[in-house]
Amino acid sequence: MRKKVKKEAGICECLEIQEWAVRFVEGDLGEKERQELLIHIQSCYQCARLVRSLKRTVHLCQLIPNYDVPEHTHHRLWENLKKAIGKEKNSERK
Ligand SMILES: [Zn+2]
Repeated sequence: MRKKVKKEAGICECLEIQEWAVRFVEGDLGEKERQELLIHIQSCYQCARLVRSLKRTVHLCQLIPNYDVPEHTHHRLWENLKKAIGKEKNSERK
């Protein structure tokens, strides 16, 4: 008997949440989305961890005075995070 991974159904939701997470830590997320995100991360370990690491990153940037994050750096940061998430998913699968 093969075990079906129930998590599969949540992948779409996670992708949305992950995009919201960036706006969330930047304080740019609407109230309704923020509520949904908070509810989601209570039951999704991966998204919760993403939000936590994003918060840490943003916090670190704010600690450095006169540190402006250029648009492309922000984009690259996000790409790296996505890659990191992908790697974690692959290593879990084995
Ligand atoms: Zn999730």
